[in-house]
Amino acid sequence: METVVARTILSLTGPGIVLTFSLAFAVFWLIERRLLYLPVLALSCLLFTLGSLSQILGWPPGVGANALVSGALYTLAVLLTVQGILLRAEKPFNWWLCLAVFAVIMALLWYFFYVDRNLTARIYVQHFGYGLIMVSATVPLAKRPAPRPVDRVLFWVLLLFALHFFPRTLLTVGSWIAPGVAAFANSVFWQAMLFSIGLLAAVLALTLLFAAFSDVLHDLRRERDYDALTGVLNRRGFGDRIDTELPVIDNPVSLVLCDIDHFKSINDLYGHDQGDVVLREVGKVLRQNARKHDIIGRLGGEEFAILMPDTDVEAALQFAERLRAAVEAHHYGLPDGATDVTASFGVATREPSESWNALFKNADTRLYVAKRGGRNRVVNHDNTLP
Ligand code: GH3
Ligand code: MG
Ligand code: MG
Repeated sequence: METVVARTILSLTGPGIVLTFSLAFAVFWLIERRLLYLPVLALSCLLFTLGSLSQILGWPPGVGANALVSGALYTLAVLLTVQGILLRAEKPFNWWLCLAVFAVIMALLWYFFYVDRNLTARIYVQHFGYGLIMVSATVPLAKRPAPRPVDRVLFWVLLLFALHFFPRTLLTVGSWIAPGVAAFANSVFWQAMLFSIGLLAAVLALTLLFAAFSDVLHDLRRERDYDALTGVLNRRGFGDRIDTELPVIDNPVSLVLCDIDHFKSINDLYGHDQGDVVLREVGKVLRQNARKHDIIGRLGGEEFAILMPDTDVEAALQFAERLRAAVEAHHYGLPDGATDVTASFGVATREPSESWNALFKNADTRLYVAKRGGRNRVVNHDNTLP
């Protein structure tokens, strides 16, 4: 009797840990409401805890009812875990698929208890089913563009968790010597299952908590370094990138400065909001025309900078000319009859051992020359000012 009590208390450790994770996800969500995958994960941990408690405490009584109730709770927990992970990867919540998979697993569990009573079949249905659900979730995760290190770790933890169901179940199924609940609880199958699922669930939950922290940090960094209106780096973010990348980039490096012409009159004539639209669209034109490794920043007001690694004088001039034409041709939603939005460009290419300040000053002087020369033009030489 004492052994049963001791074992029951011991086996409550696992559900207790999972319940703690459930609380952690829920509290995290209360602090960071934007992360909608957190309540899903909190609920999945809670359902897993309830599933374990139903098995350990034997509620509801009766082997069939207990198998179905705990099976339903575990299945929902697995489905919600997977949906939470996919939600984090910006994949929409698939209610219908969840419902269909849940219905199939429950129908099979019911059949293998009430029609063709077969414990091994029920074990296969649940364990292989959960393995398959988790494996299927790793496919969209693998296709995720620009994964961060934490995304890669999460992918591998989920895949390991998914795959472990197959060999572990095949190797340990049928390991109970005699029929009955006690023999089953003492079997290698049951002990191996408690150990491996407990360990992997804890690792997965820790990885997800870490991923949530990393998501918050990533968003804060983005807000700190990027300009919300135009989607390019702000002055601070641009400065940081220049400080870290310019010293390690080999020549030739070019800098293009771009300033919208008569922007103040766009604000004055059509309002500040329309001015913002123009800024946003110019930011879009720059992003669409730049290459992946070019560094684009909004230095302030209506002035942008593009640092171009691996770009000589000729290529930078061609790029700036292409940008100038694209800014002029773009549609900004201004009223009919409005004059075209244009921009002026100053281009400089770094001389060997030239500092950032000297490079910037050259480009800025040339931008000034472009303004004085009539605007809507590109200048990449140091002609005397008109
Ligand atoms: P130029 O052709 O010589 O460059 O003239 P400009 O009118 O473009 O330049 P100026 O420096 O005289 O005016 C820039 C204006 O940009 C003034 C400021 O109110 C406006 N501005 C700065 N930041 C923002 C912003 O975030 N949104 C909007 N709508 N306007 C802004
Ligand atoms: Mg301007
Ligand atoms: Mg300006």
